[in-house]
Amino acid sequence: MKKLIVNRYRCGYCGACVAVCKFNANELVETYLEIYEDKCTLCQACVRTCPMNALEVVE
Ligand code: SF4
Ligand code: SF4
Repeated sequence: MKKLIVNRYRCGYCGACVAVCKFNANELVETYLEIYEDKCTLCQACVRTCPMNALEVVE
């Protein structure tokens, strides 16, 4: 099944992906980007927005 993953070595915790997500499917929790798979529609808006290329949809 496809899912969105974050590369924690790349993520700079800028919050851009959280701001762009219309589904409240991600959240910065302290210095950790949480992704809520049950809410994520895999629209990839966050993938396109991330300045660090830290987000990716994988099989
Ligand atoms: S947009 Fe990219 S760098 Fe910024 S918090 Fe999201 S995953 Fe991390
Ligand atoms: S893929 Fe879409 S729904 Fe999922 S976290 Fe990114 S912006 Fe939100």
